[in-house]
Amino acid sequence: MDNKFPGKDISDEDVKSKFPLVAKKNIAHKSVFKISGVEFGGNTIPIFAGPNMVESRELIFDVAKNVKSIGAHFLRGGAFKPLTFPYRSEKYNETRLDGITWLKEVKKEIGIPIITEIMEEKYLDEIAETADILQIGSRNMQNYPLITACAKSGKPIMLKRHYGASLRDWLGAAEYILVEGNEKVILCERGVSVPHTHRSTSRFLLDLQVVPAAKEMTHLPIIVDPSHATFWRPWVKSMSLASIAAGADGIMLEVHPDPENSAVDPLQPINYQDFKELIKDMDKLAKTLFNKKIINT
Ligand code: PEP
Ligand code: MN
Repeated sequence: MDNKFPGKDISDEDVKSKFPLVAKKNIAHKSVFKISGVEFGGNTIPIFAGPNMVESRELIFDVAKNVKSIGAHFLRGGAFKPLTFPYRSEKYNETRLDGITWLKEVKKEIGIPIITEIMEEKYLDEIAETADILQIGSRNMQNYPLITACAKSGKPIMLKRHYGASLRDWLGAAEYILVEGNEKVILCERGVSVPHTHRSTSRFLLDLQVVPAAKEMTHLPIIVDPSHATFWRPWVKSMSLASIAAGADGIMLEVHPDPENSAVDPLQPINYQDFKELIKDMDKLAKTLFNKKIINT
């Protein structure tokens, strides 16, 4: 294929033999599909917004109402959460199937599609009944039995990049979904682990170069999650705008009514007011640069 960065660890042979379904068939090849009425890979840049965790029924209803009226296309929120360490603070209460029930209620009452994480195949039926998109978290990017089971459910899947994974391994994991005949796959960059030279400025490094790099190889839409990548609220706005400029097909943002009191990662969510301003700015930028829109007007 022409116009590819020559230094990649992905050879033309890889493209043909390792991920033929994920690979572009020609330079213009781009997947465009709808999920619950929202178009991906087209002229709208969908926004996923919500708390890190479905902390309570009250919280998820409040967030759903607010982010929907501000312009989010999907409500995000984990009921099943992967935590780096096994210890829980008092505030922290993983709501699991209760959280999934509240997501189901909020979807029905407020009318906003849902993206939520799945960690274990045994909960697939309950989660798939509620979720419009199944989120495979970064830590499960190479959990092939989980990925295959989710793919077979026929539900759209968002595959987060593991923070240590190459583009080659990420596309390989996406191929596991397509090979099951499930074509509604969204890739999500969420920051990569960085060498010690960067540790003083960030926990993760938002790899924005992977957006154009992925687009040279694959027809799948790629979205960016600046909340997890920066881990730091004051940087979320600039990195969201940079993600749009880099060509992201969507943005995932953590939004919480009282960010400092978020039960998980309280340094990263933004509040409703900041979300409102950010969505307007992203819309302006997307219009100016690409004639695409974010706000559905
Ligand atoms: C999340 O989106 O809630 C999450 C846990 O993200 P990641 O898998 O990227 O850490
Ligand atoms: Mn998180």
